[in-house]
Amino acid sequence: MIADSGSFTGAEPKKKRRDTSRFKQVPETLEMREGLRLRCRDVADKLDKSRPLSKDELEKIARLTLEQAGLSEVYLGWMMVNLASAFWHSQVAAVPFERRLFLLPHCLKHAEGCPAEYDDFGLDCRKCGACTIADFRTRAEDLGYKVLVAEGSPIVLKIIVSGYVDAICGVACLNVLEKAIDKILLAGIPCMAVPLLSSDCRNTGVDERWVMDMIETRQEAPAVKTKSYVHLMRAAAQMFEPTELDRVAPRVRGGATLAEANGHGVGGLDPIAATEAIAYDFLSKGGKHSRPFITLAVYDALTGGQATAANGAEFIAQIPAAIKRTAMSIETFHKASLVHDDIEDDDQFRYGEATMHRKFGTPTAINVGDYLIGMGYRLVSRDKATLGADAVCDILDRLADAHMKLSEGQGAELLWRDSLQKQLTPLDALKIYALKTAPAFEAAVYSGLRLAGPVQDASFVGQFARHLGVAFQILNDLNDWRGDDHNKLLAGGDVLGGRPTVLWALALEGTNDAQRAELKEICAAKQLTPTTLARVKKLYTEAGVFDKAARLVEKYRQRAEEVADGIENEDLRRLFYYLIDTVLEKAEPEAEPNVVGIQGLQLPVVSR
Ligand code: SF4
Repeated sequence: MIADSGSFTGAEPKKKRRDTSRFKQVPETLEMREGLRLRCRDVADKLDKSRPLSKDELEKIARLTLEQAGLSEVYLGWMMVNLASAFWHSQVAAVPFERRLFLLPHCLKHAEGCPAEYDDFGLDCRKCGACTIADFRTRAEDLGYKVLVAEGSPIVLKIIVSGYVDAICGVACLNVLEKAIDKILLAGIPCMAVPLLSSDCRNTGVDERWVMDMIETRQEAPAVKTKSYVHLMRAAAQMFEPTELDRVAPRVRGGATLAEANGHGVGGLDPIAATEAIAYDFLSKGGKHSRPFITLAVYDALTGGQATAANGAEFIAQIPAAIKRTAMSIETFHKASLVHDDIEDDDQFRYGEATMHRKFGTPTAINVGDYLIGMGYRLVSRDKATLGADAVCDILDRLADAHMKLSEGQGAELLWRDSLQKQLTPLDALKIYALKTAPAFEAAVYSGLRLAGPVQDASFVGQFARHLGVAFQILNDLNDWRGDDHNKLLAGGDVLGGRPTVLWALALEGTNDAQRAELKEICAAKQLTPTTLARVKKLYTEAGVFDKAARLVEKYRQRAEEVADGIENEDLRRLFYYLIDTVLEKAEPEAEPNVVGIQGLQLPVVSR
């Protein structure tokens, strides 16, 4: 079924995602850059600003504009950044300076003579004047900006979702800006950027007057405000802040929180209330809150889409608590599965802290996990009066179904891990993935649909969740070979942990008998050294494992896009595409911003 109105999902043949390094040339002269920037402004003035441009649309328009200028696609990345900046210019300019975040790259610093030190939130510029960072930072701070000399969109998104800033102005190289487009622009967050003149990572340069113009831009609120998911993201995160958590889902036992009893640990708590206190403390810690975001966003898409409008925050404040509780229940199940997973894998850290079983002991952790499961069901069952008995039944049924499937997937993984065979076909691994990740997506989407009203045929939800969930899991496997310092995760952790990954299955399929025997021997050793890990990586590479896995991600992405193309409701279709583009983008390590040092931003230093 071809989409009704939008060019958003026009019937263009799906392009395979590709290496973009050859599209990252910067136009050589200032005159050339000025000319192209004017073209971008002209084009952006004619664009419909009511909703964010998708990445495909941004690329298409940038290509067209380059063609009209008689220039080749090598400048595509640069054009896309300038086109996006022109698109958002009026909306960034309408945001007060003190509600803007200004991002500077540390590679602008004077590499040989810079006296500045690095700390948790980036480079602490001493404003010695040896490079332009001092000028830009001083001007921006004088105007009231929050300034960070750091990179990486996960930090930026966390600061946006934390609700302290409403727009971003940044200077960065095209590699960093490419990732920012994925995460920030698609979410509809007003953002402008000036690309660096090179991606050399040392002593780089930039069009300084462009940066100053961007910092100083200020104007009246534009007529049209672009739809944005930022209000829904904030709502999903804020629901788990201790005060809001207690307001929407008041504690039954009450009494001291774990934080309040911290001096005396759980010993300082009423034993009857202790389990609840530990559970609520864990609920308010960490995570992207993507599942509650999905439920709220689906509900919003089917009830008029007001939460994505400019005054979305006011509308979200009116969403009944019963709707929010259902959105919370999915996250509560997710947290329960994390507690149990960490015990099953004996993981040491979660959210940069010791895992629950390491803190309180395995028996207590198992019990808190069970408590969270019960709480997940009760967050829905108690709202029969508001949601209606049928809706509550349907949602509870879907949650129970998801819970059982997740346990089947986890069970299959645990049994494989403890088996001696280590035999696994790619299909086996994909089945485990479909059971392990898809049900949570499915339950989150279905709950949003059902909260909005009766659902005739929800089969597309299961298909979409399966394709997205499997692609997400394979991408996780590929990222596993990238390591993650912040969460203290080692590269190749899945081989260490003996997880049944599709990479392992593809390796068994793609190697000869001798190599297979060597792989199994290394895996059986339990103690892997950097040498043996490197050997595993070499065998994987020779067997084409990483390429095959990347192609599988593309296949499942395309299938998810085909399901999205079949959706009539444009807001829901857009949301599905947004989920595909954000869930399946190459993940960066989840660095925790210690933002206390940002001028004008006073936040408690707790790991969230
Ligand atoms: S101005 Fe700041 S960043 Fe630049 S060299 Fe001096 S201390 Fe380093």
